Amino acid sequence: MKSLFYKLLLIFFVLLIFIVGCKNKINSPSDYFEIDDESCIACGKCYDVCPYNAIEFNGEKLIIIQTKCVQCGECVAVCPTDAIH
Ligand code: SF4
Ligand code: SF4
Repeated sequence: MKSLFYKLLLIFFVLLIFIVGCKNKINSPSDYFEIDDESCIACGKCYDVCPYNAIEFNGEKLIIIQTKCVQCGECVAVCPTDAIH
């Protein structure tokens, strides 16, 4: 009886770790990089450096295409105004 209890306890913790792990893999919107229009001076450095062509000009401003961005951070590193968060 006691060993059954410990087995169930073990299964419970394994399931708990699995569920927490799965939840952490789902990106929340705050995980994505975005360009802050207020700070951006449209220098184009992020556009030039992005290895995945994930930054585009939409006619008004530079935007990050979230389906292309892999969050490598290269654009963040070159931005002179710290406009990418
Ligand atoms: S984080 Fe990387 S992939 Fe995403 S826009 Fe910046 S340079 Fe491109
Ligand atoms: S590097 Fe920074 S300031 Fe320059 S265009 Fe990109 S977001 Fe704007």
